Amino acid sequence: MPFTLPKLPYEQHALAPVMSKETLEYHYGKHHKTYVDNMNKQLEDSPLKDATLEEIVRKSSGGLFNNAAQAWNHTFYWYSLAANGESQMSSGLERALKDSFGSKEKFAEEFHAQGLANFGSGWTWLVRDKAGKLSVVNTSNADTPVAKGEVPILVVDVWEHAYYIDYRNARKDFLTNFQRIVNWKFVSERYDSGEIFSCTRLMRA
Ligand code: MN
Repeated sequence: MPFTLPKLPYEQHALAPVMSKETLEYHYGKHHKTYVDNMNKQLEDSPLKDATLEEIVRKSSGGLFNNAAQAWNHTFYWYSLAANGESQMSSGLERALKDSFGSKEKFAEEFHAQGLANFGSGWTWLVRDKAGKLSVVNTSNADTPVAKGEVPILVVDVWEHAYYIDYRNARKDFLTNFQRIVNWKFVSERYDSGEIFSCTRLMRA
């Protein structure tokens, strides 16, 4: 199999109570694993089978795109998170949030509002352009900024499966609490690098 489910950078209970162990067991252990398994099956007869995951996301369509993009999005999502209070944003990222949104608090409001407004299943992203300007972008279903070569630096999964166990239908409460488990060190590294994160590196067998 060309890709494996990546190891989590923390224990499955580490994000509780914001995100429970049971949510990780289902969301990582079942949903994410299924996307990886289905992608691997669809890659068997594909000319993209030796490509990186980022290339597959950019060059595929249909079912392969859906599974590859979801495999990438979820790996990036898990790495965007950390146990409460364990990470700090860099001064560079804080300055960029201020330049792009007015302040880090205004960014937090915008990210929350866009997550709430993202209709149906999708993802809400913080994306960096080549000049370092930041914006909040919504995508639907499996779609991802990576498909357009844009550089995501943070994401929240707003598919109902991301929060239903802990919050039932209350996406608003999930989004409020989500900001307590953002891995600001990781987000800052993504901002500083300006490159698309390599999920391939974490998922090659
Ligand atoms: Mn998900």
